[in-house]
Amino acid sequence: MTGYLLAIDQGTTSSRAIVFAADGSVRGQAQKEFAQHYPADGWVEHDAGDIWTDSLALCRKAISNAHIEASELAAIGITNQRETTVLWDRATGTPLARAIVWQDRRTAERCEALREAGHEAMVRDKTGLLLDPYFSATKLAWLLDNVDGARRRAEAGELAFGTIDSWLLWHLTGGKVHATDATNASRTLLFNIHSQRWDDDLLALFDIPAALLPEVRDSAADFGRTDPALFGTPVPVAGIAGDQQAALIGQACFEPGMVKSTYGTGCFMVLNTGDQAVTSENRLLTTVGYRLDGKTCYALEGSIFVAGATIQWLRDGLRLISHASESEALARSAGGAKGVYLVPAFTGMGAPWWDPHARGALLGLTRDTGIAEVVTAGLEAVCYQSLDLLEAMIADGASRPTALRVDGGMVANNWLAQNLADILGVRVDRPVITETTALGAAYLAGLQVGIFKDLAAISDQWQCDRDFAPQLAEPDRQARYQGWREAVSRVCKAGG
Ligand code: ADP
Repeated sequence: MTGYLLAIDQGTTSSRAIVFAADGSVRGQAQKEFAQHYPADGWVEHDAGDIWTDSLALCRKAISNAHIEASELAAIGITNQRETTVLWDRATGTPLARAIVWQDRRTAERCEALREAGHEAMVRDKTGLLLDPYFSATKLAWLLDNVDGARRRAEAGELAFGTIDSWLLWHLTGGKVHATDATNASRTLLFNIHSQRWDDDLLALFDIPAALLPEVRDSAADFGRTDPALFGTPVPVAGIAGDQQAALIGQACFEPGMVKSTYGTGCFMVLNTGDQAVTSENRLLTTVGYRLDGKTCYALEGSIFVAGATIQWLRDGLRLISHASESEALARSAGGAKGVYLVPAFTGMGAPWWDPHARGALLGLTRDTGIAEVVTAGLEAVCYQSLDLLEAMIADGASRPTALRVDGGMVANNWLAQNLADILGVRVDRPVITETTALGAAYLAGLQVGIFKDLAAISDQWQCDRDFAPQLAEPDRQARYQGWREAVSRVCKAGG
């Protein structure tokens, strides 16, 4: 079967639409940044209405940029910022309030109270997540309790809840389909990842009426057809996955033990654990990697809050560089950070240290430390933190992978990719197509409509642009990592 695939990639700061050909090549795309709203300290909101109208306009633009007709689209796939919570009116399709974004911390106290009341173990066992404002449940409860009449209307079945995928799907199908996929459901704190169902105990704990919830389908599934008025012809929506899971699929990490890491503003490392839902002893998250034909593939996920954001800080905060890409030449000229360590704990340290009170530090300065060493230390920090995550995964029972598949804006930096391989002691593979998130959504849609026969057909398409073999001698690698651990121990209690 031939035909093009349209991926909607709805991210935290921008929305994109990309038309892929069946060979995975990009045929046309369109992108738009959108407004972030910060109504109070620690609050982050998006206008869901704008997200929908932008996404629709971007789809039309990508189709036109690809010089195709909508009738040539075989299917649409959706990938999205995860956990962000939308509450809307089923009758009118309008949101009751702005969407509460995953970064929003307004429900921190509520989570703390639930933790103190001893609920974390039950929540962890069922969801694989932590009791943290990051996830959707407490955000949804906040909306129900703070928007006039919302709880009463929710109980009467007048309202719908969804993460961004559900919200877009609802509008794409003209309000006909209220559904999500298992990866997005697995980030809400309401979904039992073992039974693959919304969980009554969790709904009771977070005080969420079941009438609000979307139906949970496989990641490649029949999600309905678009309203013919939108593109002039109905197009099947056939794939949905949260952004990090979509990247796992776009990187074709289909075998247990395969791992991908996305290096953008932050970094997300996701390890395929197959049919095993591995419970982490190191506060990594257990999550649904994808669900196909009713079969769940689990994953272990670790995140670094500040990855590319360190480079932004070196550029905008310290003004040591004027473009992120200058970091590569500087690191090459320095030939290493020469004992300088930058611990970028600007907002605390995440996995596996989990110290929200930690703050950043620059250590090991000498009289000949210059701009190049500080910038290099910023790049190296991303590598050391990646090793922290990998070691945590190994401590949780994973074997050391044979390769790490990388993507995201930072991995254009060859010095970084090489240093990552050196510090991890693992080969780093960078694919030809680094639009892995959108590609993953397109793959899911293509799988459902038969463009790809099976996962092996997708794996066959994955092509390496460049691999970086580790070159650092083991004692040097150990010594450098030891230096990092000592630096971390200076900034957080658990570190070192
Ligand atoms: P996001 O999707 O999170 O917005 P991207 O994947 O677009 O992020 O990556 C952008 C990030 O990568 C920025 O934080 C930027 O500082 C960093 N970055 C981009 N190019 C380079 C480079 N050549 N070297 C190091 N960092 C880079």
